[in-house]
Amino acid sequence: MGLNFEFATSTRIIFENGSFKKVPGFIKALGSKVFIVTGKSTILANQLSEWLTELNIQFEIFTVFSEPTTYDIETGTELARNTECNVVAGIGGGSVIDSAKAIAALVPNKGELSGYLEVIGKGEKLVERPLPCIAIPTTAGTGAEVTRNSVIKSTQQNVKVSLRSDLMYPDLAVIDPVLTLTMPPALTATTGVDALTHLLETFVSIQSNQFIDMICREGMKRISTSVLQAFIDGNNLEARENMAMASMLGGMALANVKLGAVHGFAGPLGGMFPIPHGAVCACLLPAVMEVNIMALKDKNLDKQLLKFDEVARILTGNSSAVAEDGAVWVKELVKKLQIPSLSDFHLSTDSFPDLIEKAKNSSSMKGNPVELDNEQLYEILFKSL
Ligand SMILES: [Zn+2]
Repeated sequence: MGLNFEFATSTRIIFENGSFKKVPGFIKALGSKVFIVTGKSTILANQLSEWLTELNIQFEIFTVFSEPTTYDIETGTELARNTECNVVAGIGGGSVIDSAKAIAALVPNKGELSGYLEVIGKGEKLVERPLPCIAIPTTAGTGAEVTRNSVIKSTQQNVKVSLRSDLMYPDLAVIDPVLTLTMPPALTATTGVDALTHLLETFVSIQSNQFIDMICREGMKRISTSVLQAFIDGNNLEARENMAMASMLGGMALANVKLGAVHGFAGPLGGMFPIPHGAVCACLLPAVMEVNIMALKDKNLDKQLLKFDEVARILTGNSSAVAEDGAVWVKELVKKLQIPSLSDFHLSTDSFPDLIEKAKNSSSMKGNPVELDNEQLYEILFKSL
């Protein structure tokens, strides 16, 4: 592998404790009326709207209650158009930021949402530049503040797919680790393992490059020391900073390199069962690592195996660890984080053939370090129950 790569991310990133209070000024610089997208918890959106009122900046608030559906995005887009908002701000977890990005993108683009979607749609390209978009994450997992896609659930086809465009990188990411202090332990756990999965899958991805590797090493190191600390003591600001940083790094990596089998399954699984994305990743990651390592050994793909050895050394902190030790470490981590297994969500072998078929067609599966056959994909699901 030579030294060549291409890399893109959000235009501007502000990473600072307490930077949330600067958001009204940033909004003012980008537009005159802001469409604020928030999640169930509206405390921060309400705080922001108070500040905006003091500054005489108009706003509209739109709430997304869970992982966004095509209906949510269409409703939000129509409201943003009708209220003539000219800047969008998303304050919340990945679902909220993904919604903000999708709405900002669709307001000036007049086609149907379904036409722009990958896999189930026509994958048409966005033509018009989206409204300026500010992303303010309150969780540390998806890295959506620095990615160019939105994951949207199709209510008709029961699958999660992406709206993706180079035009969709947020104009500004305001990462304030203080906002993540209030995340409950269960959410800290699942979002944290999602971030780890992004870093790990892109690091071993068939598409990875030396620049992405550098990002992934740094992110995995920070997670290995901090995810459990943040889970045990939510007020540990240093651990929260490390997780916010790692989440951002994971987003940077996944926006530029395809992921792997975990995310290949996550789309269809999340579409068919109401399981949070981070929990899906946590359930699948150990088995995907095990099956990938075995498949690489069978095919003597030493270069990719060395990557798994390095993952193991970074995660365990043990300089003589080998590939399998990494999988064991992740399995133990998921246990310590008390993340439920897939069978707790009523997944059974009956759904496997359908899931495998859908996962094979997913965009992420193309990043997996080795091609997996139906039997190996079945094994991953079976081990993850
Ligand atoms: Zn993910």
